[in-house]
Amino acid sequence: MSDDEKCLPNRKKGKFEATHPCDELKRIAKELNCDMTDSQFAKHMDSIDPLSSLRRDFHYPKMKEVLGTDLSLVDPEEDCVYFCGNSLGLCPKNTKKYMDVELDKWAKMGVQGHLQGEGMPWAKCDECLDGDMAKLVGGRPGEVAIMNGLTVNLHLLLISFYRPTPKRHKIMCEGKAFPSDHYTFQSQINLHGYDPESSLLCVEPREGEMTLRMEDILAKIEEEGDSIAVICFSGVHYYTGQLMDMEAITRAGHAKGCYVGFDMAHAAGNVPLYLHDWEIDFACWCTYKYINSSAGCLACIFLHEKHKNNDFPKLLGWWGHRFDTRFEMNNELDLHPGAYGYRVSNPAGLLCPPIKASLEIFNKTSMEEIRAKSKLLTAYLEYRITERYGLTNEMSGNTVEQVDRDFQHVHVHIFTPSDPEQRGAQLSLSFSVDISYVFKELEKRGVICDERKPSVIRISPAPLYCSFQDIHRFMEYLDQALKAAAVTVASEQK
Ligand SMILES: *Cc1c(COP(=O)(O)O)cnc(C)c1O
Repeated sequence: MSDDEKCLPNRKKGKFEATHPCDELKRIAKELNCDMTDSQFAKHMDSIDPLSSLRRDFHYPKMKEVLGTDLSLVDPEEDCVYFCGNSLGLCPKNTKKYMDVELDKWAKMGVQGHLQGEGMPWAKCDECLDGDMAKLVGGRPGEVAIMNGLTVNLHLLLISFYRPTPKRHKIMCEGKAFPSDHYTFQSQINLHGYDPESSLLCVEPREGEMTLRMEDILAKIEEEGDSIAVICFSGVHYYTGQLMDMEAITRAGHAKGCYVGFDMAHAAGNVPLYLHDWEIDFACWCTYKYINSSAGCLACIFLHEKHKNNDFPKLLGWWGHRFDTRFEMNNELDLHPGAYGYRVSNPAGLLCPPIKASLEIFNKTSMEEIRAKSKLLTAYLEYRITERYGLTNEMSGNTVEQVDRDFQHVHVHIFTPSDPEQRGAQLSLSFSVDISYVFKELEKRGVICDERKPSVIRISPAPLYCSFQDIHRFMEYLDQALKAAAVTVASEQK
């Protein structure tokens, strides 16, 4: 296998315009005169990483904290390997400080804290943050509101944008949408008296493939567009890690008269987004994944400026009413234009401090800078896995469901696209063996990632707080875990 093939397992000639980040890594390794698998290389990459200091803005869990009592395999004082920022981001150190301000305020002044005192006035705590949140996703002032949970927000937006008619009644989404999104689409369709069987249009990957091809999505929009009311994909797919060309999908959908929205749960804080410029109609996302705001924290919506004064149906509440007249309580709705008009309840004063602490860290850099690091980090992970466990050509037909018990010759297939423009931080790995043993062994070594039985783990080196050395350590632990799993399996077979 040539070096190039090793690095880019699925690369087809002429597919990429820009240099693959792996080429950049190789260039640096050559300069250093070392191999990309050397620990020295990872160390050097961390030393030249302009964002490396941001890790210290987070509580990065130690081995002794995540492992409980069995610390036999690790150094208890060492950092764990946290590759689960796609599920729950780490805790920024300032979160507690900002929480304490609000708790103290409540203790000292009770209801007066709504408008007075230190920290954020609770009546406007969301408004203190949505400017920075908008910046993170390429929204303009007034296009973003912080409220509720993600799935609730998707429902609220679909109430406005999904207004089916017998001619145009479909919702188009990806075949394996996140279950919550799938149920949202189904129930919205049911609410309007239509049948998900004929009104929910799921685009599936081609036979034997794991990810969607843009050409197939665009062809489907062209073919079915006249009957589609709303197109709603994930910006980054939770399972495959595929990053969609949102601008192209939006353009194609609009050309057919559809509304186009995205669930940005795995995209916000992961990749740069330009929601306004891409003319996306609506979007929603949670803040506890790459935005590090704590489990179940407040979610967000984006409503494009062009819909600012829409007269779409909405579910209303008092918090959509303009602030100036809200407390006249005369039951005459004076609806705030834009995203604020979609707010229903008053915001949770104690859920805003964590968002503030996280956005503060994002504000030290930019999504473009974060993305530049992220591309290198993920390409390094890809290289290391492919170099060590890459599939030979005969094996590449294996699907996620097929596992064997040959722990001596384990192969790992990365089914996240190898094109860096089609993925964010996450790589989804499919093992040739049952992952449960391996996952347990990884856990024993303080590797925190996500398991999908029987053979998949998803790992996400979040660029704000993960390092190249984390990846190097991960590779060592994975080696150990596979060896230990092989021993377990061999003893079971006897
Ligand atoms: C994480 C995630 C959710 C979770 O929804 P909640 O309402 O926050 O529980 C929904 N959809 C997608 C695509 C997700 O990635």
